Amino acid sequence: MKTVHLNDNDIQQYTFDFVNCGDIIIEHINSCKQCKNVSENYRLLSKEIKVQAEPELAFNLADLVMEKLPAPITQKPSKDYTLSLSIIIGIGVLVLMLYGFKSNLINLIEIKNISTYFIIALGVFVSGLFSIDMIRSYNKKINIINFS
Ligand SMILES: [Zn+2]
Repeated sequence: MKTVHLNDNDIQQYTFDFVNCGDIIIEHINSCKQCKNVSENYRLLSKEIKVQAEPELAFNLADLVMEKLPAPITQKPSKDYTLSLSIIIGIGVLVLMLYGFKSNLINLIEIKNISTYFIIALGVFVSGLFSIDMIRSYNKKINIINFS
């Protein structure tokens, strides 16, 4: 029995999966110095791999995050402001145009009732509010995406 040593698979199971390791393997390694040395070498090797791999990954991740974090925070809010500002200006121009051509429009549709004019103005106002609300919720969603 002493001349027949364990194979690599058995020693690896003893080293990394001790709970599921058979009694014969445990007994052999406890009584055999040569197989115990092989097991210790596997353990040292795995420790070295872990020690080398983890800091490298952590530093790379940190560097990547640090590189990418400042850029979106400084750039994207200004972009959002210009976007919402241009949309608000567009809505303002539209409202002004409607206001400027109101007499033409009213003559065209032949509506001279003041209450219908108010209804149209109210409709334009409410649709403007809806657009502003849509822009606000859009900006909020964009901010959530940026920070997550
Ligand atoms: Zn052995």
